[in-house]
Amino acid sequence: MTESVEPSNQASDEARSADRASINEPRRISPGGRLSAKMSTLARQDTAPELALRSALHAMGLRYRVQVHVPGNRRRRMDIAFTKVKVAVFVDGCFWHGCLAHGTRPTTNREWWDWKIEGNKARDEDTNRLLAEHGWEVIRVWEHESAVDAAVRVRQVVEARRRPS
Ligand SMILES: [Zn+2]
Repeated sequence: MTESVEPSNQASDEARSADRASINEPRRISPGGRLSAKMSTLARQDTAPELALRSALHAMGLRYRVQVHVPGNRRRRMDIAFTKVKVAVFVDGCFWHGCLAHGTRPTTNREWWDWKIEGNKARDEDTNRLLAEHGWEVIRVWEHESAVDAAVRVRQVVEARRRPS
């Protein structure tokens, strides 16, 4: 299993990203200490929901790779990848990916956060498109979902794609 050792997080990835260079970034004031702590917690790799899903998949006997590059965009990675059957799994954080139930946005720098999170959602859709173009099936799991339920959903897709058609 190849675990990424890059010190980067999602936020810094995006700061480097040229994907949305044409979109003007709104001005913002520096986030306060509490918000910075929240951001670093939410943006890190190997989040608790991701680890829980990996454990549940492993317990079902499924084997996967983590942090595999997305075909067509070397700067993006799949959270969990079943490379033989081409099934990509992403565990989307409610905050960063704008979950309708829990994706509350800070009131400070609201315009910037809207820009940021809408940009993440657009990038997710673009990643889905890239993977589909390369023959992958994409499963997106919200961090609020039960890891076991999500693992069952993933297993169904993986097993279906293992069967000869
Ligand atoms: Zn949620």
